[in-house]
Amino acid sequence: MDFSRPRKMVRKAIEPGEYCDGTCPKCGSTDTYIRTSHVREIPDMGSTREQVTAALRVPTYSCHTCGEVFTPEHPLYPPKFEYSLAVVEHALTRFHYHNSSSFEIARDLDVLHGVKVPEATVDSWLKFHSAEFLKAKIDTGQAPIPPNVEYATIDGTFVTTGPDVVGKKRPVDWLSVTQLASGAFLLTWPEAGRPRKARLPPSRAPRKPSA
Ligand SMILES: [Zn+2]
Repeated sequence: MDFSRPRKMVRKAIEPGEYCDGTCPKCGSTDTYIRTSHVREIPDMGSTREQVTAALRVPTYSCHTCGEVFTPEHPLYPPKFEYSLAVVEHALTRFHYHNSSSFEIARDLDVLHGVKVPEATVDSWLKFHSAEFLKAKIDTGQAPIPPNVEYATIDGTFVTTGPDVVGKKRPVDWLSVTQLASGAFLLTWPEAGRPRKARLPPSRAPRKPSA
């Protein structure tokens, strides 16, 4: 296997005909035309082999029948968002299903999917879209969100409940992570006498978005 090959840049052109039929939203007429259009370049999910950019042509239609001017929206590339729905949903899934931190999510989007996202942007997605994401997963009967976590990971130091907790020779079965007012993280774990299968108590789950 040749792992040395560089990642390929892929530009995925999406034309208006692929996501709308130009029907006037006001009068229902199909007698419309594209008066102008522009292209949005949107980072999309790629792989270790491909860095994908969606080149979405956004048309502005005019209606011959009633004069309405309108712009259709692509459901996978919401207007005013710098990234595709798939990228944002990936981040929310990693956070809610796998307890990944925003640091890990941003790093893996870059390394595994060719999408560069600032950690602060991932934080804002978690804050503003979590409620909508969780509601959608429940309403559509998709795989349930795990009720608690079995390990904790801390940005930059990668402390886990495996045998590699900093300074500990014996495996640590669980630990809690609390951010103090000073910004420092306080770690707490049992020294001995706990069952090996003990789980991190739900009430001590790592930070979740407030909104
Ligand atoms: Zn019309």
